Amino acid sequence: MERIDVGILGATGTVGQQFIALLAGHPWFRVTWLAASERSAGKRYGDLAWRLPSPLPADVARLEVAPLDAIDKAPSLAFSALDASVAGEAEAAFAASGRLIVSNARNHRMDPLVPLLIPEVNPDHLSLLEDQRRARGLKGTGGIVTNPNCSVINIAIVLAALRQFDVTRVIVTTLQALSGAGYPGVASLDALGNVIPYIGGGEEEKIETETRKLLGTYEGGTVRNAPFAVSATTTRVPVADGHTAVISVELAKKPSLDEVAAALAAFTSEPQARELPLAPTPPIVVHQAQDRPQPRLDVHHGRGMTVHVGRIRPCPILGYKMVALGHNVVRGAAGAALLNAELIVARARSGAGAHADRELHAATATGKVKTQNA
Ligand code: NAP
Repeated sequence: MERIDVGILGATGTVGQQFIALLAGHPWFRVTWLAASERSAGKRYGDLAWRLPSPLPADVARLEVAPLDAIDKAPSLAFSALDASVAGEAEAAFAASGRLIVSNARNHRMDPLVPLLIPEVNPDHLSLLEDQRRARGLKGTGGIVTNPNCSVINIAIVLAALRQFDVTRVIVTTLQALSGAGYPGVASLDALGNVIPYIGGGEEEKIETETRKLLGTYEGGTVRNAPFAVSATTTRVPVADGHTAVISVELAKKPSLDEVAAALAAFTSEPQARELPLAPTPPIVVHQAQDRPQPRLDVHHGRGMTVHVGRIRPCPILGYKMVALGHNVVRGAAGAALLNAELIVARARSGAGAHADRELHAATATGKVKTQNA
């Protein structure tokens, strides 16, 4: 099995470190290049603070952190966990240089030519990558693919499973973990024993807009947003990892509660069919116990890639309500991007999918995307 060299932009942050942990021993990818800010550039990665419980892989510890402008040394496929203040320009520059950037940052998510992708929800939107390359004259495998905001992923996966019942309105309140704010994140004196009823950076708008793009329809080189309305309130709570979303939803086809639960539990999609290395099976676990899901008990299930749903019950306003939970740094960030890259490579290897996938496949075969035998 060939392994593809990958880089990580923003390798020193919360999401960057999670990329390194998830890529340790990955059957398709190996980390060969890391970049971060001038504060970290020039240092050996192993000499910087490692904040995850899993060990830092020795081959990554040996790498020197590059500055963001060392584009010519970067491999053809790179993950981005850059702070949004720099991600916009940096990712565009890497894409223009012929590199495929699979990003977590918010900057390009709503760009009409950039796929906002969850492989279980809208794998067909990957076709936008081909449109992007053509419209922007990007060379080689250049381009940007994004995953949504960390709360949006759980909500969109739930709504994708319920799409068959025609979603018409959604109201969401989130209880978001501290790790969602990056490192060092929220000051402990602000967070401990407290609920902060506001998350900056347009968190609520992201839920209201990204969800509709994700559940939208790809046609003729563009995505038509899903027609339903979403109203969101986001809060920060003193939880380490795991974003909870309290969801009320209106479904035009008026299924029974049992039908809703069955649809969520039976939901499966292209990552599961292709048996992608990081694909959770099943993607959604439905809990029967009244006091689940809970971040501390459930969030690490399925290597952090599973979305949990519980408390499915009637809502006197919209018809149905439930509680969803997902790991914000894994399912909501690094794992999301990694699954996006797995889908792109799997499609390329099988010769399926859009022209963009075939381009990556061709580049892999000719060595333009550097590979190495595992
Ligand atoms: P973080 O812990 O603050 O890490 C930010 C990373 O960006 C670090 O590697 C940092 O490098 C680098 N960086 C900051 N300023 C830079 C500059 N001027 N030039 C080059 N590199 C710079 O943040 P995070 O939580 O990992 O989030 C990373 C991205 O993912 C953000 O865009 C965030 O919105 C998004 N995201 C986060 C989550 C989550 O749950 N945490 C979920 C989804 C999406 P230094 O260490 O050298 O400063």
